[in-house]
Amino acid sequence: TVRTRIAPSPTGDPHVGTAYVALFNLCFARQHGGEFILRIEDTDRERSTSESEQMILDSLRWLGIEWSEGPDIGGPHAPYRQSERGGIYTDYAQRLLESGHAFRCYRTGEELDEMREARKAQGLYTALKFADLALPEEERARREQEGWSSVVRMHVPDEGTCVIHDMLRGEIELDWAQVDAQILIKSDGMPTYHMANVVDDHLMGITHVLRGEEWINSAPKHRLLYEYFGWPMPELCHLPLLRNPDKSKLSKRKNPTSINYYRRMGYLPEAVINYLGRMGWSMPNDREKFTLDEMMAHFDINRISLGGPVFDLEKLTWLNGVYIREDLDDEALMRRLMEWSFNEEYVGRILPEVRPRVQTLAEVMPLAGHFFSGLPHINANSFEGIRLEQETIVTLLQFLVWRFEAVGHWDKEHLLSVVQELAGHFELKMKAFLAPVFVAITGSQTSTSVMDAMVILGSDMTRARLRHAIE
Ligand code: ATP
Ligand code: GLU
Repeated sequence: TVRTRIAPSPTGDPHVGTAYVALFNLCFARQHGGEFILRIEDTDRERSTSESEQMILDSLRWLGIEWSEGPDIGGPHAPYRQSERGGIYTDYAQRLLESGHAFRCYRTGEELDEMREARKAQGLYTALKFADLALPEEERARREQEGWSSVVRMHVPDEGTCVIHDMLRGEIELDWAQVDAQILIKSDGMPTYHMANVVDDHLMGITHVLRGEEWINSAPKHRLLYEYFGWPMPELCHLPLLRNPDKSKLSKRKNPTSINYYRRMGYLPEAVINYLGRMGWSMPNDREKFTLDEMMAHFDINRISLGGPVFDLEKLTWLNGVYIREDLDDEALMRRLMEWSFNEEYVGRILPEVRPRVQTLAEVMPLAGHFFSGLPHINANSFEGIRLEQETIVTLLQFLVWRFEAVGHWDKEHLLSVVQELAGHFELKMKAFLAPVFVAITGSQTSTSVMDAMVILGSDMTRARLRHAIE
């Protein structure tokens, strides 16, 4: 039977790209009466967090995407979190060492840098192969005996072409010369993405791999690993990446990419899923509005077009409006509003912010309105009275956006340290530094605490408002 999977790395906000790829995997599996599963690829221990994993699961569920096996529900191939799969990967790496398809490499980081520099200076490809990395036997033995740290790498042909079959693109030829003797097991014993991904796809019985086209260059390494293990390779299908309206790759530097943002903005899950279904795909009758069930019923992978699909906020917003008008009666709309923000959980987080600042209940909404809205109206007058040059305000907000992009744990402590550091950089007191931030986030000069507001609004909404204020 057909088995597909989504294999996200929990290293940040839940990306719309992840939902898009998950949707196509789900539809492909269902169309063939198969199964769609979820696996967490958290071998990068530095960048992976359990909050991120939880957000990915929550947001896929919110969108109506269901998996039949996964870290939260288990299944016959458990565990579904790579960090919990113990010695599986080192055992398989050991097999490759024994069969001579992999080798232990004792080269140091400096040696690798030197080699790369030397090759660059000669105008050569920078890929490093076994022959480049091999040490004289004596030296290798010495490093081994002295317990130097080492990695396991795979052998890769020096030259020739590797042919990959892609369900949408047909044969793709890639040059072996450009492929490194890829690391399979890092010096800390953890597998790399390539190793863990191939081993797990095999052990979990994955028959079709639908993933973003950014992974095409990894396919030769994967093909080789399947060959070395003597395993059949799943069919590959590289989906076109989502793009900004200017055709560049959809990226959080230009657009909100977190599903949390769309949820906070009040988009309906069925509209978001419908819109994602239109990314490179269309219904046989070209209908623009369709449900997930309808998409599953009519799915045909050959109807995917490779021209870069544009993720256009205006179109999504239009479609969302159609859903609100056509599909929700008053009662349903009321329920959605309550699920969205008018609930004990969300209002409960806001009450501590407003309580010290109001004398009557009627003052609550005007004060807390920005917690229930999208992008505030900002104009030239909004920053009036703030004693900073217009230019400084723009630079300051832009710097803040950039620094916030890199914040891994979105909590008050981490945001404060960014703000304090930047305020120091601008030689401003916290209060002066925060004045324009306050306007950008809340749309006014008097409101609730801006630091708390940013924590509650979340990273994508915060960055979107900061960006909006300087556009
Ligand atoms: P950004 O450029 O916004 O920082 P990124 O490439 O760093 O994005 P990652 O966190 O590396 O994003 O990716 C998260 C997941 O989203 C990955 O599985 C990736 O394949 C997918 N993804 C990222 N960008 C796109 C895109 N433009 N189209 C489709 N999927 C994408
Ligand atoms: N962990 C990879 C990601 O984050 C999976 C890529 C794949 O599907 O092979 O997207």
